[in-house]
This record gives sequence, structure tokens and C-alpha cells, in this order.
Amino acid sequence: MPITANNPDRKTWIKTKHHTDFPIQNIPFGVFLTRDDIITIGTRIGDTAIDLGALHQLGYFDGIPLTDDIFLQDSLNDFISDGKKTWRLVRNRIAEIFDEKNDTLKNNKKHRQEVLFSLDEIEMQLPVSVGDYTDFYSSIEHATNVGTMFRGKDNALMPNWLHLPVGYHGRSSSIIPSGIPIHRPQGQKLTNGATEPIFGPSRLVDFELEMAFITTDANQLGEPIPIQEAEDYIFGLVLFNDWSARDIQKWEYVPLGPFLGKNFASSISPWIVTLDALEPYRTAGPKPVKEQLPYLQYEGAKSFDIHLEVAIQPKNTEETVVSKSNFKHMYWNMAQQLAHHTVNGCPVNSGDMMGSGTLSGPTPDSYGSMLELSWKGEKPVQLKSGGSRKFIEDNDTVIMRGFCEKDGVRIGFGEVSTTLLPVFKK
Ligand code: CA
Repeated sequence: MPITANNPDRKTWIKTKHHTDFPIQNIPFGVFLTRDDIITIGTRIGDTAIDLGALHQLGYFDGIPLTDDIFLQDSLNDFISDGKKTWRLVRNRIAEIFDEKNDTLKNNKKHRQEVLFSLDEIEMQLPVSVGDYTDFYSSIEHATNVGTMFRGKDNALMPNWLHLPVGYHGRSSSIIPSGIPIHRPQGQKLTNGATEPIFGPSRLVDFELEMAFITTDANQLGEPIPIQEAEDYIFGLVLFNDWSARDIQKWEYVPLGPFLGKNFASSISPWIVTLDALEPYRTAGPKPVKEQLPYLQYEGAKSFDIHLEVAIQPKNTEETVVSKSNFKHMYWNMAQQLAHHTVNGCPVNSGDMMGSGTLSGPTPDSYGSMLELSWKGEKPVQLKSGGSRKFIEDNDTVIMRGFCEKDGVRIGFGEVSTTLLPVFKK
């Protein structure tokens, strides 16, 4: 079925700013509270939020097999379970409804008042109920940088790294939408030269520039997903700030890997941009350094050209962009991650979230964490507002943005913005 929603020539009757992240070709999905405090599934064109629950009740999705309450829910999980064909039908229909040549909703003031909201009238929620969250470690630059810092240049990559997409199971309970502040975590850490740990606030709170993809129900227990089918089970992507406390992480991570240094918060952008919307931005990924096992070999372009940036904004001052990277630098692509994740028969469900791992690029200005940007604190990063940062300080806001652009069409993710508050006090 063609993705007519991606037609680059289509224009909309909704007023949009030039260069918006959300032109009519994007049509992302999210969940929001309306001005009447009703929760609904929606989409967005420019700075206008669109209530899909209301649109459905008014009959605008007639002919598409959808249950009556599919959009009147507090998560996208059931809609995602409906599968790729339905996602495509719904995006195509939304594009038609808002096409400048279509007068039906455009000329119906009563319907428009029920369906359209300005962004300041709504409150974005988590778009999915995340059952399971897995975090990969799939940037060769990031893995090499961190390995060099902790083990030296010669042992930077562990022996398994070039053979499989390394990952671990994280916690879904601390995944939060953009705008929710977090507190500086406390925990055990080993100060330099000490042999016994101390307890206290993490002094090395860091961001990780990642993206995450969201899956649909993909397989039964025991059933692997072949790599050539893997993308059919990916609904879309969000920006993902995987907060990390480096001092807690360093002391706890041997031998079972990340734990409390990682699971205090992960922030996401609230609009899921579908894999369908990203089709025009496919690109080849990095060439494998070593031959990969057959179940990880793929054909075609499986990476996506998504520009990414991170900014730090101290309280009441201007922000400084501290990193510019790209999703295409990821060594192991999403299809490989999903094929690997299920090769042992581990089931993947609707609403599961898979973090890419920190997306560092090849140059120092494209590193995806403060650990790398400040090289574990040896090279402080200068801020425009004066001062510098080795890691994130109390009341700093970290903002991540991402977009694709080609042939005059820009598909963006908006932003994920999170403020780090001081240690929690009762
Ligand atoms: Ca991570």
C-alpha cells in the first residue's frame, strides 16, 4: 500500500510556520490532555494539535477497520497492535482530511472546534504504556570513547562488540515525557583512590543523546523475528535522553551491567514519528568492520539520516548547543537490534521501547554525552552564558532536538527538554 501521506507536494489548510518540524508530511502520534481535561490520542500539524478520538467519533475514519474507542485511550498501545497496514491507512486519511484541496472539515466550524487545539491548550503525556525497555550500545564511536577512558585504547572495544548489538534490560517505570523535571540521584560511589564506597549525591550526572524505537506485537515466545521482517514491527521513533550517573555507574556495573546509575530517569519527546514518515530519509549505515553472522546480515539502506543536537540551558540564561550528531552513525541498525533481541525467542510487545545507545559521531563536537564531550571532566565545555560544564549541574535544562530534511521537506521530532533539580528532599 502506498504511503500517500508522504507526498512532498501536498499542502495543508492548517496554518503552519515555514520550517516547522510538523508539516502535513509528518503526522506523528501522541497522547494529550485536552482543555476539557479529557485524555485522547492525537496528531499534530504545525502548532495545531488534532484530537483523533473526536475525528473518529465524527466519522472521518469511516471505511478503516478501527474499534470505536481506539483513539479514546490513554496510550497508543492498542492502535500500535493493529499493525502497519492500519497505521498507514490512518496516516493517509489524516493527510487527506487536512489537504488544502479538501473542504469537508475546513468548512465545518463546529467540527473544527471539537477537533483542533492550540498547543497551549493541551498537555502532552507519555504516548505509550512502556511494558519493557531495552537499551542498546550501538555507536562504535561511543563504545570506543568510553572503552578508551575506562580500559585504555588497546582494549576499548570488548571482544563481543563487533559481533552483536550489545544491550541490557532497563526499567520502564522511570521513562518520562519531555517537561517533567528530575532530581539529582544519590547512591554509592567510590572516590578516587578510596577502597570503600561512600553514599551521597551523584556528582557526575550526564545525558545520553539517543533515539528510541517503539515496537508492535512482534512474535510469540520462542519465535525469532528474521532481520528482513524486523522493520514491519517498528511503529516509530522518539528522541531519548537516557540520564546517567557516571560515578554510581562506574562502581556498580561489574559484573552485571547498568543498574541504579541508569534507571533513575529516561526522558522522551512526546510525539512518535512513524517509520513510514521517515522513509524518504533512508541512508546506508556504516560498513561492518568485521563480517557479521548471517542472522544479522541485511540488504538495502537500513539507517536514517536524522540530524540531532543537544543544548544545555542553565537557569534563566540562554542555551548553548554542545553537540551535533546524527542517527546514521549508529553501527548496528534497528533491524539488527530487533533481530538480535528476538533470536533467542524473547517476545517483543506493543509499546516496548528500544534505546539506540548514545549516538556519538566521529568528531569531538558530535559526542553524545558529557562524559565524552568533557573527556571525563578533563576538558570543560564552555557555555555562551559564561561558565563551563564538566557534567550537568542543578537547575540546568538539557534539550535534545532532531530532524530530517530533504527536497524541501523537513520531518522533525520537536524536542525533549528536562530540568535537573537538586537532590530530592521530603
Ligand atoms: Ca543508554
